Amino acid sequence: MTTESSNQYLHLRKRKLAEATREFRARGKSVMRCERCQLAVFACLCSCRAATKSRCEFIVLMHSDEIFKPTNTGRLIADILPLQTHVFCWSRTEPDRELLNLLGDSNRSCFLVFPVNEKDPAWQNAIAAEKISSNEKITTFILFDGTWKQARKMFHCSRWLEGIPSVILPNDLASHYQMRKAHQEDYLSTAEAAVLCLRAQKDREPADVLLNYFMQFNKNYLLTRGRGSTSSP
Ligand SMILES: [Zn+2]
Repeated sequence: MTTESSNQYLHLRKRKLAEATREFRARGKSVMRCERCQLAVFACLCSCRAATKSRCEFIVLMHSDEIFKPTNTGRLIADILPLQTHVFCWSRTEPDRELLNLLGDSNRSCFLVFPVNEKDPAWQNAIAAEKISSNEKITTFILFDGTWKQARKMFHCSRWLEGIPSVILPNDLASHYQMRKAHQEDYLSTAEAAVLCLRAQKDREPADVLLNYFMQFNKNYLLTRGRGSTSSP
């Protein structure tokens, strides 16, 4: 069960950790990490975490490579909006049953968050985020949590997402994501994309809380890396 002190990312991580090989577990042992936030103990982010609520919900489709990456930012959304964030490990051919139930839920309007352009067939029924009407349905944003290349693959190769419109986000946030060099200039981290979704829905408070938490995460992560961690970013 998801409560404010736990979240779906933590459940997924625990499950995958139980399946992980010993070799994997040994990775990144050169620095003492906080069990909960995965940052170095001296740069622990946990005291900055403040769960809040939003009117909309998120589905985070996490690439399996992301689950244990300390640089992952999809998990930050689950930290801040534990009751509104659904987290699933992405599978092209075997999507989780619960995920399909959410996508088929008639009480929701789902939108794919991926930067489509005029050349993309998805452009045809893409909708500007500000134009999404806040009707009685739960606005649900589907985020692709992975590298740029993985996100592209998840967006284009998931047959079970067919028919779900894409959303065009306002571009009013310069990326602060310093951990990974993006090949695409307009590439935002997953957490930043969620901030834009919330802003477009005029859900200011959770947008600000998430952005502040993300900025602090950036800072603490760079501190972690600066002190000789050898684990891959
Ligand atoms: Zn911590």
